[in-house]
Amino acid sequence: MPTDNHVHTRWSWDTAASSSMRLACARAVAIGLPGLAFTEHVDFTEWSQQDSAELAGRSGTVIPQPTRIGARPGVAPLDVEGYLADVARCRDEFPDLRIVSGIEAGEPHLFPASVAAVLGAGEFERVLGSLHGIVCDGTLTGVDDALFARLDAHQVMHRYFADLVLLVNGSSVFNVLAHCDYPRRYWPTARAGAYAETDFEEHYRAVFRALASSGRALEINTSSPLASADLLRWWWQEGGDAVSFGSDAHRPFRVGEHFDLAVDVAEAAGFRPGRERFDFWRR
Ligand SMILES: [Zn+2]
Ligand SMILES: [Zn+2]
Repeated sequence: MPTDNHVHTRWSWDTAASSSMRLACARAVAIGLPGLAFTEHVDFTEWSQQDSAELAGRSGTVIPQPTRIGARPGVAPLDVEGYLADVARCRDEFPDLRIVSGIEAGEPHLFPASVAAVLGAGEFERVLGSLHGIVCDGTLTGVDDALFARLDAHQVMHRYFADLVLLVNGSSVFNVLAHCDYPRRYWPTARAGAYAETDFEEHYRAVFRALASSGRALEINTSSPLASADLLRWWWQEGGDAVSFGSDAHRPFRVGEHFDLAVDVAEAAGFRPGRERFDFWRR
């Protein structure tokens, strides 16, 4: 079993107080994981002056800055000190478990200075890059059922992949690209038919090319509908060589969930464990 590189606990703004790091570690040990990474959400509801200055200073407007950020109820800053103290306690209590510190940075290409300020406040070993929203009419809008009710389903995916390429090219702060087809979680099968990866092959490949050229890892996210072996082959064909397994658990009992299936898919696509048990898997 690989390391679970994407776990949330009560330190994330959207995760229940009962979801403690301790319980997540106990679960990881119980199911035989070699390690886990606590990648708490780092999201923002406004731009700092430095963010805007950095975005404006980028030549050629590589990333058009949205004019507004849509409602993001509940988003709160990460308590870096409390988080890191908890990580240290867990490392003492679970010495045989490799416990990786980290964050899941939401839209890091749009908040470069704000993300850097969080990373500068402590020691973080792993950064996931995530896109949870797309720009609609100038507003950064969360992807959810409401967005799919408003726009054509294929159109949502096209826009998502286009913005994801901007994220990958526009931010070097992260090591792993999380849930590369996140809107798939909300895909309206009743209206649009079953989700077909092949409908978006060129879009996936464009994202993978950008990510592979910068030497980063692709996540197999087991909270999302599971990627196919074909999808992971596209990743490899576009130059990608590392995959990271992430449950995206927001509850301790979901740590490592569906990893047996994810491992089968990765193996079918030709990926194998790295040198150390907690390394990324590689081709
Ligand atoms: Zn996420
Ligand atoms: Zn997550």
